[in-house]
Amino acid sequence: MTSSTPDDDTAETRAARLILALREQGVTDMKVLGALEKTPREMFTPDLFKERSWEDSALPIACGQTISQPYIVGLMSQALTLDRRSRVLEIGTGSGYQTAILSRMARLVYTVERYRTLLGEAEERFRKLGLTNVITKFGDGGIGWAEQAPFDRIMVTAAAPDEPKALLAQLKPDGVLVAPVGKGPVQQLIRYAGDGAGGFHKETLCEVRFVPLLDGVAREL
Ligand code: SAH
Repeated sequence: MTSSTPDDDTAETRAARLILALREQGVTDMKVLGALEKTPREMFTPDLFKERSWEDSALPIACGQTISQPYIVGLMSQALTLDRRSRVLEIGTGSGYQTAILSRMARLVYTVERYRTLLGEAEERFRKLGLTNVITKFGDGGIGWAEQAPFDRIMVTAAAPDEPKALLAQLKPDGVLVAPVGKGPVQQLIRYAGDGAGGFHKETLCEVRFVPLLDGVAREL
């Protein structure tokens, strides 16, 4: 007798199940769902957690950091309202998973990470996946990327203690920035939409738990 258990499922089946669950939770943008389905999350998770790659949970990666929960990646990507012309800045490359999702929906993705090891591993994944529209930088993303500003969209994937003013200053007047904001273990996910005249409409999307946005680059690898 044959029976099918979740353990026997292929990555494809697990992906399809996850996509369905995200849709039910409100990630309905087909571009976002398509990008999530096409991006093999198992390439971004450490060996110890490979089995859990298609679960809807954040997982530990090197350097004490985390790969974000797929639902949050979907929600943030949707809130960014990207299109094929968008030049996007992402702060906190981490595993590169969110970067890969963005790269499938935008024209160019600039991504900054403060750990050399994480950045190197992420670059290797982008190469293997043939993602040629990702530009990486080792540095302190809290100050943005002045040489490449202004950006159409900015996504911050580490918790900013306060309103990310330096980054908002690198956004186009009608741009959108999505960031977790708050000093504690639980932060507010905030969407800032430029009003075209130097101000922002601010919307709180939900509560999230991100690792903190830290100053400077990491001394350790
Ligand atoms: N988007 C990532 C999430 C990684 S966790 C993913 O999907 O895997 C957040 C990342 O932000 C960590 O890798 C951390 O090192 C990085 N980070 C924190 N502060 C930073 C800063 N000031 N500049 C650049 N990266 C930063």
